[in-house]
Amino acid sequence: MKRLAWVLVFLFIGSSARGGEQGKSLIELGKRVEKRVVKLRGLEVKKPIRWEVTSKDKVRAYLLKTLGEQYGPGEMEKEGDAMKALGLIPRDMKFKEFIISLYEEQVGGYYDPKKETFYLADWIAPAMQETIIAHELTHALQDQHFDIDEFIDRIKGNSDAMYARAALAEGEATLVMLADAMQNMGIEMDLSMLDLDGVFGQMMIKMSSAQFPKFAEAPRALQEALMFPYMKGLSFVNYGRRQGGWKRIDQIYKDIPQSTEQVIHPHKYFDQRDPPTEITLDFLAKLVPEAWENIYEDVLGEFMTLQLLDPVDNTDEEKKAAAGWDGDKLRVFRRGKDLAWVQLSVWDTEKDAIEFAGAFAKTVTSRVKGFTRQPLTKEPRIIWKSKNNRVVCVERRAARVLIVENLEADLAEKIRKAAFVK
Ligand SMILES: [Zn+2]
Repeated sequence: MKRLAWVLVFLFIGSSARGGEQGKSLIELGKRVEKRVVKLRGLEVKKPIRWEVTSKDKVRAYLLKTLGEQYGPGEMEKEGDAMKALGLIPRDMKFKEFIISLYEEQVGGYYDPKKETFYLADWIAPAMQETIIAHELTHALQDQHFDIDEFIDRIKGNSDAMYARAALAEGEATLVMLADAMQNMGIEMDLSMLDLDGVFGQMMIKMSSAQFPKFAEAPRALQEALMFPYMKGLSFVNYGRRQGGWKRIDQIYKDIPQSTEQVIHPHKYFDQRDPPTEITLDFLAKLVPEAWENIYEDVLGEFMTLQLLDPVDNTDEEKKAAAGWDGDKLRVFRRGKDLAWVQLSVWDTEKDAIEFAGAFAKTVTSRVKGFTRQPLTKEPRIIWKSKNNRVVCVERRAARVLIVENLEADLAEKIRKAAFVK
């Protein structure tokens, strides 16, 4: 999934705020918030920041327009199919429709860098608008100070990198927003207290579920994906701010994080840089017959790998299994109603690869039905077979792990041979 790129969805953090601002003009309110945010963030306004109040219909139109720009015809459906193949969303879900309605529900405001204007939703309670203005103003400042044009475009074939850059922009806007809200309430607090992780992130999901029916209805992997840039991005940006203040954050825009691994473990960005290894699955083109249409290619990254290991709740054990990720590539195939996929991943150490392969093996029977695990052999792999001769295969060699799911046994055999050739 897939953020709709620069549709900066605002999650209703602290949405229990009440009263106070009714009757005061929004313009006046905006000016006040702008003064505070500029001071807090330490970035000046280079040209006047424009903003407008917008309606639900207009937000919907903007969502559809952005989608149309970022996805070719049928591409979004293919992305949905990829998520279905991985077991992240139900097979019968109408993906595109659901995503649009989910975003519609969640949008409280957005910044449109093409129009250099931010938009406030007119259905949002006035008490919330102040918080949203602080958030969207930060995006406007990012746009004026840093080269973020490339942030706008969907990175086809690498959602992992896209989540990472979203985490930078959203983490910063969320940090400024929360810091401003606390200051405004006269609360003196160490900003490091704002790291929203673990328990707090889970609490946010519960709160949002209580308030927003579409969000509550969303499969857990989509909820996590929606939250990721805000929650993990916040911790990431705060980590950098503690090292070198806001100046350090300014620098990140010239050297953006490349993977969700770097966002989840900020020391892998700030202290000991761990760049992702690029993996190719180009060799599949010669092996997989045309009957299996290649509908999707992506990098799952640590974040989506974790969802793959468990789309229900991410336990510490699963987090450990997803950590140590160093690179991967996924290809998804469709043949009639059947979906199949191949993923090759590389891990920091053999131990990390073993952990991942083991954790993945536990997920197989809950995701695909009718497959029976075959007796182990001397080979470093586990195979599940179905009655119609399809297989699921997970194989580890050194720090690499290959997964083939729901392809024919002989085809899977060819793939595994090709994948581990030096
Ligand atoms: Zn935002």
